[in-house]
Amino acid sequence: MSGKKQITKRSENYSDWYLDIVHVADLADYSDVRGCMVIRPYGYAIWEKFQEILNKKIKETGHKNAYFPLFIPKSYLSKEAEHIEGFAKECAVVTHHRLKATENGVEVDPDAKLPEELIVRPTSETIIYASFAKWINSWRDLPLLINQWANVVRWEMRTRPFLRTTEFLWQEGHTAHMTSEEAEEEAKKMINVYADFCRDYLASPVITGQKSESEKFAGAMHTYTIEGLMQDGKALQSGTSHHLGQNFAKGFDVKFSNKEGQLEYVWQTSWGVSTRLMGQLIMTHSDDNGLVLPPNIAPIKVVILPIWKDEESKNKVMDFANELFDNLGDLIGDIELDKRDYLSFGEKSFEWEKKGVPIRVEIGPRDLENNSVVLVRRDKLEKVTVNINEVKVEIPKLLVEIQRNLLEKATEFVKNNSHVIDDYDQFKRQLDKEIPGFIYSFWCGSKDCEEKIKVETKATTRCIPFDQKEESGNCILCGEKSNKRIIFAKAY
Ligand SMILES: [Zn+2]
Repeated sequence: MSGKKQITKRSENYSDWYLDIVHVADLADYSDVRGCMVIRPYGYAIWEKFQEILNKKIKETGHKNAYFPLFIPKSYLSKEAEHIEGFAKECAVVTHHRLKATENGVEVDPDAKLPEELIVRPTSETIIYASFAKWINSWRDLPLLINQWANVVRWEMRTRPFLRTTEFLWQEGHTAHMTSEEAEEEAKKMINVYADFCRDYLASPVITGQKSESEKFAGAMHTYTIEGLMQDGKALQSGTSHHLGQNFAKGFDVKFSNKEGQLEYVWQTSWGVSTRLMGQLIMTHSDDNGLVLPPNIAPIKVVILPIWKDEESKNKVMDFANELFDNLGDLIGDIELDKRDYLSFGEKSFEWEKKGVPIRVEIGPRDLENNSVVLVRRDKLEKVTVNINEVKVEIPKLLVEIQRNLLEKATEFVKNNSHVIDDYDQFKRQLDKEIPGFIYSFWCGSKDCEEKIKVETKATTRCIPFDQKEESGNCILCGEKSNKRIIFAKAY
């Protein structure tokens, strides 16, 4: 299919533009189950890149992968009060275990009612800590550092592919420690792993910081977050890390005997990133022509597009293209040679452009006569002519340059759209602008001020950034003294 599906311009309707990109780049489809998406092979190939890189980082920081059940006994969710309050409204519940055939198909067998309902995991703290209680006895068993790659279900009312879906894919880390200090160090370490991943691979700069009390994870002592700024000036929370304190340890009786032989509750953390990161990747770099992928995360870094007129020129061009494919493939991996002869050159170019492949290599008979090939870089849609003998050196160099350029552009965008504001009228005016951005303001810490600001402006507190200079001022709303700025933004 070479259908020229028009992509809505970002300036016309950002939200439609996003859906168009997901569609034209073959990333995901809707399914017949409301709020659930089908991740198509090209979209899944990008997700596999995320997994490959993050899995390595998670293991390098000492964690081991395991797998826990999809279903959680309802009673488990009652063991940590705040946790269940946070998730109760979005749980899928399994009540029966059998269907029976009828004249019209099947129906739920009323005789197959479960004695205790099962909850499809919205997150796995409860079921994992039931195992931790069995595995942990002494200080020798600590720290216990576990990760799982899984799907979870949160019954969402308003969904959008990757950004908010009823079922999504993620990794969730769960750890247990002897002391609060160790758990704190772990929670901070992992939020920084996420931030480094976003910067180094997604070319997406994120702000790291702490969530307010009302925005923290249900059941956590405190929550750290990474917050990105999308091209429409809205914030996206794309990863979190929680210091859980001893809340769950007490609910699930996770105890260890310390070196003095006394029983103590463990200190815990949990942390996760999900397919939401795909939404961040799409919205950070893509343009009105389609997806734009940074080379470090692209499942196809380079695509070779041979062009020919007749059989004779085809042979010459294909010989060169095949050789380049072999040599370059060994050098950089993730490379594709598009041999399809049932599509025109234009159709093929257009397809790879929409899919955001960082470099297209165009090779035609005239290029070979001139001892040159043409490289098209997706980030700037610029053509560069390169001598045939230098192409193997120039392509890896250009990939590094594209990665650098995308990060620089995104960093510049965040910088230009971050505002330090101390006056509430100015604050409101900023939020009414087309690109509201991040607003750094003093906040007294009260829930009331946070809630009033949210009602009046639709802006929520995103995080108290780790990285801020020491200063003091007055709460943007009530004027109370404050010594920390928090970021306000409209958010996904
Ligand atoms: Zn206040």
